[in-house]
Amino acid sequence: MLACLDLEGVLIPEIWIAFAEKTGIEQLRLTTREIPDYDELMRGRLKILDDNNLKLPDIEKVIGSMAPMEGAKQFLDWLKSEFQVIILSDTFYQFAGPLMAQLDYPTLFCNSLVIEDNGRIADYTLRQDDGKTKAVKAFQSLNFQAIAAGDSYNDTGMLKQAEGGIFFKPPESITKEFPQFPVTQNYDELKEAFLKVRQGILKRGR
Ligand SMILES: [Mg+2]
Repeated sequence: MLACLDLEGVLIPEIWIAFAEKTGIEQLRLTTREIPDYDELMRGRLKILDDNNLKLPDIEKVIGSMAPMEGAKQFLDWLKSEFQVIILSDTFYQFAGPLMAQLDYPTLFCNSLVIEDNGRIADYTLRQDDGKTKAVKAFQSLNFQAIAAGDSYNDTGMLKQAEGGIFFKPPESITKEFPQFPVTQNYDELKEAFLKVRQGILKRGR
């Protein structure tokens, strides 16, 4: 059985919010919670970077000062001892590198930025639309079962697609909309939920 984990908000802080705090550019705090259309959100972010002459090295500097959430590494080590773990994220490989090193390089499926020679971020490319859900579907086609955990709307597709889904520190509005998924607030609760959900899946399968 696989464990499919979201990255930002589950193991590491939100990168764009950290960057907004470092630069003081308030509009960079906007997330899919405020602008549900991801393309519109990303185009807006890239325009703000251009307007402020900010390039990849500026973002890398901020990311270099970031650390995983407290207890994330220990949680992930435990999860890897119980499941095959795959991180499914909407972030970009160019952002995630330094934080992945601090998490001991777990398997990460995410997207890529198009970077010009001078470091300007010209564009972004998604592997595919709704990649998290499609990844879980693909694993199931290989006869894997999956438990997915995430914190936000962009995770609800994979939570629904997986044999089991768990919320970790989600906004309250989402838990009312998707009452079928257990809600956890810390890594101890998340561990317990993974074990309990797995037990339920195994029982169902008999
Ligand atoms: Mg997240």
